[in-house]
Amino acid sequence: MQLAARLRPSRLNTYVFAVIAAGAAVVADVLVQHLPARVEVPSLTVLVLAALLVVGESQPIVISRGEDDLDEVTIASTFILALAILGPVWVLLAAQVAAVSLDDIRRRKNLQRLLFNNAQLVLSGAVTRMVFCLLTHRTFASDATPLQVHDVVPALAAGAVFFIVNNGLTGIVVALALNKPVLPHLRDDVRFQLSTSGVLLAFAPVVVVATGFSLLLLPLMLLPIAAVHRSAKLAAERERQALHDGLTGLPNRLYLSDRTGRALEAAERSAVGTAVLLIDLDHFKEINDTLGHYVGDQLLRQVGARLRTAMREGDTVARLGGDEFAVLACDLDGRAAAELVAQRLVAALMQPFSIDGVRLDVQASVGIALAPEHGSDVTTLMQRADVALYAAKEHRGTYAFYLPERDLHSVEKLALLGELREGVSDGQLRVYYQPKCDAATGDLVGLEALVRWQHPARGLVYPDDFIPIAENTGLIGALTLEVLDQSLCFARRLRDAGTPLGVAVNISVRCLTDLELPRQVAGLLGRWGVPPESLTLEVTETTIMVDPTRTMTVLGLLRDLGVSLSIDDFGTGYSSLSYLKRLEANELKIDKSFVFTMTTNSNDAVIVRSTIELGHNLGLRLVAEGVEDAETWNMLRALGCDVIQGYHLSRPLPADEVESWLEEYRRPLAAVTPLQRQA
Ligand code: C2E
Ligand code: MG
Ligand code: MG
Repeated sequence: MQLAARLRPSRLNTYVFAVIAAGAAVVADVLVQHLPARVEVPSLTVLVLAALLVVGESQPIVISRGEDDLDEVTIASTFILALAILGPVWVLLAAQVAAVSLDDIRRRKNLQRLLFNNAQLVLSGAVTRMVFCLLTHRTFASDATPLQVHDVVPALAAGAVFFIVNNGLTGIVVALALNKPVLPHLRDDVRFQLSTSGVLLAFAPVVVVATGFSLLLLPLMLLPIAAVHRSAKLAAERERQALHDGLTGLPNRLYLSDRTGRALEAAERSAVGTAVLLIDLDHFKEINDTLGHYVGDQLLRQVGARLRTAMREGDTVARLGGDEFAVLACDLDGRAAAELVAQRLVAALMQPFSIDGVRLDVQASVGIALAPEHGSDVTTLMQRADVALYAAKEHRGTYAFYLPERDLHSVEKLALLGELREGVSDGQLRVYYQPKCDAATGDLVGLEALVRWQHPARGLVYPDDFIPIAENTGLIGALTLEVLDQSLCFARRLRDAGTPLGVAVNISVRCLTDLELPRQVAGLLGRWGVPPESLTLEVTETTIMVDPTRTMTVLGLLRDLGVSLSIDDFGTGYSSLSYLKRLEANELKIDKSFVFTMTTNSNDAVIVRSTIELGHNLGLRLVAEGVEDAETWNMLRALGCDVIQGYHLSRPLPADEVESWLEEYRRPLAAVTPLQRQA
């Protein structure tokens, strides 16, 4: 009920206080008017029934309609009705108050909730007793009176009254608290309630008759009651399982869809905003792969719990599978409010996690879709949150709103992803090779392997269009191994042909957190009989900075193998010099964006010159990529750059063409350098 207080303070609070007041009035009335002058100890039968009422109330079956255990069924209803039939009313009310209070105190419910629960049960009990007395001409306060044959129908009618009043009073408060329409909620509830508490109530007259005959028959009566209790518990548990995620205990996708559907209906009526936020953990796969599933599972549990506490009670936090979570936030006052929710979620995961003493830093990306702005049905909203998540993942650790402009793009990308998965396993990847030569002499020094995807329908697809997709999905691991395998196979072929050129392969940061990578690289080097010095691994500066600690470990293992390390696209990131030193790389590649314009833009020329100086001071070999003309080459040579690569020398070539290109390159240039050729 506290939850409701925050959601709909006026309506809910009014209702809750009205019920509490009515309950208090009934208790006062019974105490003042209907208590016998001399209160006597009730009969053993009445005491046993009262005791069973208290025990029954402590064994509730929680009906899983969400994370909030607002809806419950207990076997106490059998004994409440039995006492309402039998009387006296003060025992009934005293037993009810004792049962509810003990149970609520045990479960640490707050005072308002305790008072409400007491009041609604007192009201249900008193009305039931009153109806039964009216129908059987008994007096409200009369002592236990045995049940006659003609009392059976009134007893059942009283049971029906209890069912309606009890479920009505609790159903309304649940609906108000969850901000759901009251009548549909009551309707949804009634079937489950009829099959459980309905059956339990029908037992009450039988219990009264049997105990009137002999108290010894009571245990026999308890058997079917226990059976109903058990099957209701199982049904509730099955329903819970079907709607919840086993690992985190959070609602699952099915539950979220259902809740979202209802929230959208309610929002339409009250014109408030609703947001679906999809949350995906960055680097979860690496944690799972390197530290094991046990740690992965613990982490997911902790993440689930943190997300739950970051949200209001009325919002739904679900786990959709893997490392993907979702939040349904209702009653939002526009975009800014949704943004605040996203910030809260990101912040909740900011603090490091601790699992068995291991400290884990986790970042998350959040995609947000708003209703009605971005969609007014569940499917659209979920899809659009997914598109937004995709956008957010491109800048890790952040959130992004759905943008229609991105959508076409992303839907296409998603389609591409499915095809890429097949493409990688069906051998559609082609590695092209771009030669690099000594800036001063023009001698060939190596080849850079650049992957392309020979798509059956789209033709040749370039890496910028599929590497980011592969990186975001874990497919990059298989892709990298495939490129390494083809490149080393090609290096072997060149060696066999008497051209022992080294190859450079681009490695994505996703792979650099994989402790398996060094072993796999060693395996492939061995397989193709290529010495490690002939392999260079190019890693981009920005990717190293994303997660320096983990990356450093893998890079260290790779270095130990004897392969060279090259820092690609240098100048576009934000490396600190200390990292550059710690990396112990062999090579620095100046990003082509500076090289393109260095002859026309003096700032870029300065950047290139200082990079060359800096690199040389750190003992690194300097490579300039994107050299498209002789002028640039000349300038680079004058600045002392070691190696050049670019269209001026050659575009990336398919393996088959490389060998003939090498032939051609060698022959006319046997005596002259390319510079002289250009001149
Ligand atoms: P990169 O590693 O910086 O590769 C250089 C890119 O510049 C290549 O583009 C190359 O074709 C292009 N390039 C070379 N010389 C010139 C020039 O003179 N002018 C112009 N305009 N461009 C030039 P490409 O092949 O499209 O590759 C783009 C990026 O995709 C690469 O940038 C690299 O980061 C990534 N990539 C390529 N292959 C792989 C791979 O196997 N694995 C991974 N993880 N990434 C790859
Ligand atoms: Mg590269
Ligand atoms: Mg580059």
